[in-house]
Amino acid sequence: MSEAVLRCENVSRFFGGIHALKGISAEVRQGEIFGLVGPNGSGKTTLVNCVTGFYPPQKGRILFEGRQISGQRPHRIASNGIARTFQNVALFKGMTVLENILMGRHIFMNPNPLAALFYPVWAAKEEVAHRRKVEQIIDLLQLESVRDEHVEVIPLGLQKRVELARALCAEPRMLILDEPMAGMNQEEKEYMVRFILDAQEELGLSVLIIEHHLDVVTSICDRVLVLNDGNKIAEGPAREAMSDPEVVKAYIGG
Ligand code: ADP
Repeated sequence: MSEAVLRCENVSRFFGGIHALKGISAEVRQGEIFGLVGPNGSGKTTLVNCVTGFYPPQKGRILFEGRQISGQRPHRIASNGIARTFQNVALFKGMTVLENILMGRHIFMNPNPLAALFYPVWAAKEEVAHRRKVEQIIDLLQLESVRDEHVEVIPLGLQKRVELARALCAEPRMLILDEPMAGMNQEEKEYMVRFILDAQEELGLSVLIIEHHLDVVTSICDRVLVLNDGNKIAEGPAREAMSDPEVVKAYIGG
């Protein structure tokens, strides 16, 4: 069995009187695709926001590669190797596909604008490295034909792929995808599944994915965590966990 790369220990989060996560413990293992599922309002996005630092947990802790990350700011967590995409497409309108993907490199860029002035050779080498990575990802996700298009004019399926490309450009070791197939037609869904699998294999990533399409969950996830009303109701191999009577009941609202 692979070792745990991400560990949530007894994680709780409140919003006023709402107890959105009630002491969740779970682990994502090295190199697996881990599904985070459950009915609407069950706490999936809140757990992802806890992991990525947007809403830190108020109780419990989260460790990535053995080091505590809960309490760190989102930018620091991203620099430590966790990249995410969002439920609603969050691209920079007015910019091209290429420019949007390049934004994924910002975590490596020197915040001091004078650095490039004083160290021009170093800056030029950095620029080449950024370009090389971007080209690798454009190639992997087959975005070559739209690289110079403005993002707002391309179809939703491609916009979601650009978001995935931007996340991959940050060279994460863990990728978190929040409903990457939302709003897509069947063909776009199939493409997205293939690109996620290609990226995971080629780049050796661990993937945590929030997904509503249960056919996708059972076909690509190694293991899943099922939440309901802020509680963990199942964790384990995808098919087994999804056929657990408590999970079936939560989905049909019985
Ligand atoms: P899911 O992703 O499973 O649909 P969420 O994590 O978005 O569920 O929400 C879990 C619960 O926490 C819901 O009751 C939701 O209304 C509440 N919640 C989430 N974010 C906030 C917030 N920023 N402010 C207040 N309540 C929130």
